[in-house]
Amino acid sequence: MNKPYSILLYYCYTPIADPEEFREQHHLMCLELNLLGRIIVSKEGLNGTVSGLKEDCEKYMELMHADPRFAKIDFKVDESEGHAFTKMHVRTKSEIVHSGLLHIDPNARTGKHLEPKEFRDMKDRDDVVVLDVRSDYEYNVGRFKNAVTLDIENFREFPEKVAELKEKYKDKKILTYCTGGIKCEKASAFLLEQGFEDVYQLHGGIIKYGKEAGGEDFEGKCYVFDNRVAVDVNSVNPKVISTCYVCGTEDDRMVNCANPVCNLHVAICEKCGWELEGACSTECKGHPEKRPYDGTGYYQKEMNGYNPLKGFNRRKKNDVHA
Ligand SMILES: [Zn+2]
Ligand SMILES: [Zn+2]
Repeated sequence: MNKPYSILLYYCYTPIADPEEFREQHHLMCLELNLLGRIIVSKEGLNGTVSGLKEDCEKYMELMHADPRFAKIDFKVDESEGHAFTKMHVRTKSEIVHSGLLHIDPNARTGKHLEPKEFRDMKDRDDVVVLDVRSDYEYNVGRFKNAVTLDIENFREFPEKVAELKEKYKDKKILTYCTGGIKCEKASAFLLEQGFEDVYQLHGGIIKYGKEAGGEDFEGKCYVFDNRVAVDVNSVNPKVISTCYVCGTEDDRMVNCANPVCNLHVAICEKCGWELEGACSTECKGHPEKRPYDGTGYYQKEMNGYNPLKGFNRRKKNDVHA
């Protein structure tokens, strides 16, 4: 395989003194490299996923690694036939992943990082609990065999679930995992703060585990935040765990309901997809705003005539007049 594009997934907890100024420069740098994607900048670091031509992505990684603040970034790199996004967003927020745990600094203390093979060799031990810190719509598509999952729709609900976990697993070794590793930095740190003593985290998340440990014992697909929606990670013992939302047959084809008001994110089989024209029900199929179905079930907002550079310049001009 030698596809012309790369998709990068990365994060870094590192102090950024002036996030607003950094955001501006970084956005420009991404535009110059013709990257598309989503980057969040805050005082505590940066979190990104971008796509671009292989050589542009390599240049980006090189430039980032040359900056001492980002020298330690562990980029997860996937190959792709084209861009995985249609826009470039660089935004500032209070946290690089919304958790509400503003007081936690993973650079001061966090769970012990396990490399994929270490995680694989440790996860089935009797004194170990494997904890999925992601949201319900993510683990419903795929998760580690025997993982403990949480009834949460968003990571910011994680802290309130910890009391429950403490009752059940206080004396166990906890191994946390998420998509690319970023959520585990604060999740495992918070578990330590709440009194768990033996806390580990899967370094690089499911994505890196797929590359370095063959994805062994990860059942289903890994939900991702780009137009691929969900990716295969297990090349050792893959298993389908989801069923078609409409007819119930085993299937892991993730789509968004074509009715934008519904936008339900579920597995729908190829056959039901075409029958309902990408909708999750006959009701949604008949909705006046239903989007045309192209067989993928992935929809971009306002993609017509989008020009990243134009948007950037216009926004800058508005800033000046504001
Ligand atoms: Zn079906
Ligand atoms: Zn629907």
